[in-house]
Formats: sequence, structure tokens, C-alpha cells
Amino acid sequence: MTTTTDLTPLLAGLRQIVGDANVLTEGDLTGYEQDWRKRARGHALAVVRPATTPEVSAVVKACAAAGVSLVPQGGNTGLVSGSTPDESGRQVVLSLARMAAIREIDPDNLTVTVEAGCVLQNLQQAMEKEGFLFPLSLAAEGSCMIGGNLATNAGGTQVLRYGNARELCLGLEVVNAQGEVWNGLTGLRKDNTGYDLRNLFVGSEGTLGVITAATMKLFPLPAATLTAWAAVPSMQSAVALLGLAQKHLGANLTGFEAMGQFALSLVGKHMPQLRVPFLGDESAPYCVLLENSDSESEEHARAQFERLLETAFDQGVVSDAVVAENIGQANVLWHIRESIPMAQSEEGLNVKHDISVPVSKIAEFVEVTDAILREAIPGVRLVNFGHLGDGNLHYNVQAPENGDPKAFLRDEEERINDLVYRSVASFDGSFSAEHGVGGMKVDKLEEYEAPAALAMMRAIKHALDPQNTMNPGRMLAA
Ligand code: FAD
Repeated sequence: MTTTTDLTPLLAGLRQIVGDANVLTEGDLTGYEQDWRKRARGHALAVVRPATTPEVSAVVKACAAAGVSLVPQGGNTGLVSGSTPDESGRQVVLSLARMAAIREIDPDNLTVTVEAGCVLQNLQQAMEKEGFLFPLSLAAEGSCMIGGNLATNAGGTQVLRYGNARELCLGLEVVNAQGEVWNGLTGLRKDNTGYDLRNLFVGSEGTLGVITAATMKLFPLPAATLTAWAAVPSMQSAVALLGLAQKHLGANLTGFEAMGQFALSLVGKHMPQLRVPFLGDESAPYCVLLENSDSESEEHARAQFERLLETAFDQGVVSDAVVAENIGQANVLWHIRESIPMAQSEEGLNVKHDISVPVSKIAEFVEVTDAILREAIPGVRLVNFGHLGDGNLHYNVQAPENGDPKAFLRDEEERINDLVYRSVASFDGSFSAEHGVGGMKVDKLEEYEAPAALAMMRAIKHALDPQNTMNPGRMLAA
């Protein structure tokens, strides 16, 4: 094993590749070394910030030659401790932040080729100016980057209509673990030539190579987008409303988010400036946010929404509803939904889950799992919200009122995780719907993934990264 002193020549080499100013070893590196949830804090040998694909290639080659491992990093908004270095002080954080260019827009092909470090919101806004919709959308969009979105196969609020990051991606440029550049930046919608390498790297969480650029799908901007907020008498009613909305709105249904009253009460408590519709309505344990994106006109969208809500009232699956009058009101409704994670943090440390089960089983899953947790930990508070249209819930668990959140997390997290994930498995679900595995859920992948699948994953990792220098210890146990 080399010592830290032996790495001085590596640091000198990295400085030659990207310039002194882009090899950070001193000063406050918290933004690179600590994750968003403040659950993981490591120490990097250096943070290296290349500006071009050839520079990424040279950095990867230099690190591989020195036997030093790399942690690719985008916006560092990942929620599973996958984007920060370990505590050894011997890993290089490879930040893609300087590679933020939009390389090419192909209007006829409806594609954009963009570098990995482009912040998601910047891409959305740039495409809107060009008259296109780039639909990937999540609450971290002001900081997360396209490379990180692809490396985690991010989901978000528009998956129902447009799919995960994977479905939006047509081509990739990747620097592999040996530092070779693979230019797979095709804009083809049909291409059955060999193994699908693109889909291997999408969702690989930095463990197979570095995504440096991508060709992504664009869509026409909708003529009108309307948002409604409905109070529903049960989770089963929310599922029934989803079915009705799919029938009435078809592909125009672009968002369907469910939120439990307790989750909303935290927004009301910690963000009192936000007026949450139907807050505290005991006849409505859940509220649903629906989005209708129409290619015709606002009048058409409004008429569609009205017919849907009338049917839903008649069938008793909605007890009350409001439709936003304008974009400002719609933004407020979305802001309420997106404020839940922050409100939850304000309430104190909590146990987070990002699970999915088939939509048809979600109501029963919630009923059964709520009961299991309430019996195991009397007084426990359940913060339940998420992308119901995708069967994806952020099923989080907060300490009992007046409990000590730190002690709760320390004493109960493992037990709660076991109870929730076992219940998820019994409903044929996934313990990680959107956020991935990272460093936080490696043991869960071992526990819940089929042995044959794990063996294939290990074979792929070993074949593509035999030296184990790409984000080691993340996703797969060594
Ligand atoms: P990072 O956090 O920097 O990295 C994440 C992983 O990808 C790490 O393993 C890293 O090594 C790897 N990686 C990053 N860039 C590259 C690259 N160029 N090449 C190879 N590997 C790379 N996620 C969802 O899916 N849906 C949501 O709705 C959602 N909501 C969120 C809301 C909030 C408030 C926050 C903080 C996070 C949310 N997330 C959500 C999680 C997170 O935003 C996403 O996982 C996002 O895609 C990560 O992008 P990033 O650029 O921050 O990646």
C-alpha cells in the first residue's frame, strides 16, 4: 500500500492536467466532503475539477496508475451517501461542475447534447427559451446535475408521463475506469447493436465510469399546464383517483403526488406563510396534487379537469378540490409539496425511506406497515408522501412527539428499516425506488437482491473496473 506522501507526484500530475486552481486540497471542502443529509462526512485527498472530457480521461488514467480511487460528483444532492469520499483521505473527488456546456440542440430530432455538470434547472430553463420542454423535474433541480441525474437514474415528479432519467436518455459519453473515452452520443431512438452500454452506465452511481455528456430527449412545450389539489378520504381513494385521472387525461396527466395530513401539518407548522389547502381536514387523511399538461389550450385543460373532478366527487373518491387559477397559484401548490422534506428536517432527525410497490398494492401496504410501526413504537409519527402515480412513496418515520430525535435515530433506525423493508418485500416492492444504493444501502442490496442478480452485478463491476477504483464500496459490497 502506498503512503500519503507517495501521492505527492499524483497531485502534481493532476495539477498539470487541470491547473493548480482546480485541484483543491485546502480550505473549506465541506460542500464536497459532506453529503446533503449530513449523514456522511469524509476527507478527500483532493477535489479535482476538470473542464473537458480529455481532462477527465487524463485524471482517471493518472489516478488508476497511482491506484487511487475516484468519487465522481455532480451537485452532491444524492440522498444515499454515494457522492462523498470515505474517511481515508486517499480518494479523489472528481467534480463535474466545470463541464456545464450545452453542446448541441437538434430541433428536428428533438434532442439536446449536454455536459454532465450542467445543473438540471439551467438545462430546463435553456430549453424552455428554445421552445422545448426538458421534463426531468425534482426538488433538488437547482443544484443537481445531469451527470448525477443519470448516474442515479433520477425520477422526480414527471415520471408518470415522461419516465425516469433513463427513459429520457438516448446517448452517453463516458470515461471508463481505464480512462478511455466512449463516445456513445447518439440521438437514435432505435439502435439494436450489441449490449446496451448506455443503460449499464445509467443508474451505476459512479461505480463503472464517469459520465461526461449525454444526449437527452426534448418535448414540445405544452400549451397549458394546470394544477389541482384534491382532498381524498383514503389512500385507496387516491389510487382510484389516479385511475380516473389516467382515463380522463390520458398522456396529459404529468403529475400525481399524494401527501398525508401529518406530512402537510409539518409544512403548516414550520412554514406558516404557506397556506396548505384542506390542512387538518379529518375527513381527508390524504391530499393529492394533480398536474394536467395540455397541448391544446387552457380552456381545454380546465374542462378536462372539471369533468374528472365531477366524476371523482360522484364516485366519492374526492371530498373537496381546488384548481389553481394561474401559474402563481400552481407554483404555490407545488412549493407546498416540495417543502415537505425541509419541514420534516425542521421537525428533527427522522428515518427516511424511498420505496415503491405496485400501485395496486399501495393502499394495503400503507395500512399494514402503519399498523406494524405503530405497534412496534407507540406514538411514532408517519410522514407519508410521494409520487403515487409511480407507486413511489417517501415513507418516513419521525420520533414520537417530545421524543429525542437523535436518540430515536440511534436506537430505532435499524429496527424501523427492517420492519419497513420486510413489509415492502412482502408487497413485491423495492427498498430504493429513486435514490439508489450509494454507501447507505449496500447491506440492503445484499439482503434483498436475488443471488443470481448480485453475481451478475459483481461480474459487470469486475469486468469494467477490475482495479475497483470507481467509487469503491458504493452499491456493491467489496
Ligand atoms: P451527486 O449527489 O453528486 O451524485 C450521486 C451519485 O451519482 C453518486 O454515486 C456519484 O458518484 C454519482 N455521479 C454523479 N455524477 C456522476 C457522473 N458525472 N458520472 C458518474 N457518476 C456520477 N431524486 C430523485 O430521483 N427524485 C426526486 O424527486 C428527488 N428529490 C430530491 C429532493 C431533494 C431536496 C434532494 C436533496 C434530493 C432529491 N433527490 C431526488 C436525490 C438527488 O437529487 C438525485 O439523486 C440527483 O439525481 C443527484 O444528482 P447530483 O448531481 O446531485 O449527484
